[in-house]
Amino acid sequence: MIEGTFIGTSSAFPTVKRNHPAVYIMINGERMLFDCGEGTQRQIRKAGLSPSIDSIFITHWHGDHSLGLGGIIQSLNMMKSNKRLNIFGPSGTEQGIKNILMTYRFYNQLDIKSKSINAPKEKKIFERDKYTVSAINIEHSVKCLAYKIKEKDVRNISVEKLAEKGIKSGKFLSKLKEGKDVIYNGIKLKYKDFTYLKKGKSLAYVTDLRYNRNVIPFIKSVDTLIIESTFGEEFQKSYEFFHLNIKEAISLAKSSGAKEVFFVHTSQRYENDDSLVKSAAALYSKMKCTFKYSFPDDFDKFSL
Ligand SMILES: [Zn+2]
Repeated sequence: MIEGTFIGTSSAFPTVKRNHPAVYIMINGERMLFDCGEGTQRQIRKAGLSPSIDSIFITHWHGDHSLGLGGIIQSLNMMKSNKRLNIFGPSGTEQGIKNILMTYRFYNQLDIKSKSINAPKEKKIFERDKYTVSAINIEHSVKCLAYKIKEKDVRNISVEKLAEKGIKSGKFLSKLKEGKDVIYNGIKLKYKDFTYLKKGKSLAYVTDLRYNRNVIPFIKSVDTLIIESTFGEEFQKSYEFFHLNIKEAISLAKSSGAKEVFFVHTSQRYENDDSLVKSAAALYSKMKCTFKYSFPDDFDKFSL
């Protein structure tokens, strides 16, 4: 299961209601952040989540997506529980992290592994037993990455099928789960007859982006899509500002086929103005969309 919490849902300016961008993900006992804006670690505390982060994935080096890194690194350095932190980001990330480590006077107890990623095509950048994280370059005013977490498919035993044949459980089940046929009491059991494939869930995180349909293959068929929609349809300069407006974001979301969509990175101009939400509802009907969607608030949770 992938469990997520929106740590910050604003764009360039943090507001009274919304903090700088960050999404906290818990998967298979590991904690990761996608982006790390200013104030992220305090938001993590407020959300009641563990501050022991294992990996941070930065989309790009604009301050709203990365100003919280120094603070998190300082805290993790003082905590005994964390010994290692992975940091991924676009080209220049290794140097950026070196600069942070040179500038501040941290206790150096933390083993930081940083990696600069250039991914003209989808690239697997991180792998664990049960999931992978991949990245792809996306179009913004600076080098920027979109990320995707994908759980691996798992082959499970069909207990009903075993029972039908009167087969009792045993060590051979692990072989069937590995996709291997086995001999049971002199009879060949084909793994295909006694197992089924449970598809892993997937989540894509796409921000910041100027409208460009090249991102569609990367987000195609994900279960959940988190995508920026900084501006409303009325804002004429979203392309010039290298951002999406809500119409563009809905169009990409629809093309992805995602079942659930979260629109984030909301401009401060909509802090006390529901025009963005209203125009999203109108466009959603007009464009005949079927996915579930919302504009999450900070601390909202989701799971898949
Ligand atoms: Zn941004």
